[in-house]
Amino acid sequence: MRRVALCMALIFLGTALAACGGGQSVSGAASSPAQQAAAPPQAPPPAQLDGFDAARAYDQVAKLVAFGPRPAGSDANRLQQRYIIAQLKSYGCPVEEDDFHSQTPIGDVAMKDIVVKIPGARPDIVMFATHYDTKTLANFVGADDGASSTAVMLELARLLCARKNQVTLWIAFFDGEEAFNWDWQDPDNTYGSRELAAEMANSGDLSRLKAMVLADMIGISNLQIKRESDSTTWLTDLVWSTAARLGYGNVFVNQKLEITDDHDAFLKRGVAACDVIDFEGASPIWHTVNDTLDKIDPRSLGITGHVFLESFFALEQKLH
Ligand SMILES: [Zn+2]
Repeated sequence: MRRVALCMALIFLGTALAACGGGQSVSGAASSPAQQAAAPPQAPPPAQLDGFDAARAYDQVAKLVAFGPRPAGSDANRLQQRYIIAQLKSYGCPVEEDDFHSQTPIGDVAMKDIVVKIPGARPDIVMFATHYDTKTLANFVGADDGASSTAVMLELARLLCARKNQVTLWIAFFDGEEAFNWDWQDPDNTYGSRELAAEMANSGDLSRLKAMVLADMIGISNLQIKRESDSTTWLTDLVWSTAARLGYGNVFVNQKLEITDDHDAFLKRGVAACDVIDFEGASPIWHTVNDTLDKIDPRSLGITGHVFLESFFALEQKLH
């Protein structure tokens, strides 16, 4: 999502949420200065998370937020792109940049998808993905909506670019998930994921893509991630059963929620895809200036990172 997307899509139980529609943002309680000054909860040690360093991921959220508002096409977003690419290269990741232009409600906007492509023993591709742009909104820094999932994907890349993987792994950082207009109305959203899906269809890579796992808004405390109901059932089952095995059944819960997000471009092309997002828990701060670093809990980054790592290992076994 830029979460925007997500949100918008948020039609659950057949009812469009008013919050997604519109000008009226959900107002969240502002944090008191004391809350903002409080130190974040302690991150679990990497040894408990297959090496996933939640403190490092939290630090990445802080660094991304420090770029300020970073909607697609903005100077801050270009600086952020350089930062993400430099981080990935420092991990030894093979990084590809897909520059493209989108026609948007504000005119032609230059965008960039950043894709890590790690060759594996097999040509089958597993993709993890996030969006890194933030919603156009004054003073909106998107700690949860944009930075949290970007930070987790950076940490996954740090670990998996250094590993000999059994399948080919792509980690995609999408630009332009958020709608430029306040409302989420097609086609003004998910520019980057639609671009990559189309490009993969043209190149033939799409036929090798066996699973796409999207993360969005995964940074707040007390995460409650519901099964996104349009997502592919077997892939959702794999991720949720992995979480349950690791003891996170209270985080990856078995209720359903429908969200429109960057996974849809792949679902529409017949690819198994799954969205991991806590939209409802974050709704008080969603697309408000209260989506700030003090709302981010390193334990949540650690849980989702751990689940993504183990889900990737499970996918390697499944695709063997
Ligand atoms: Zn958003």
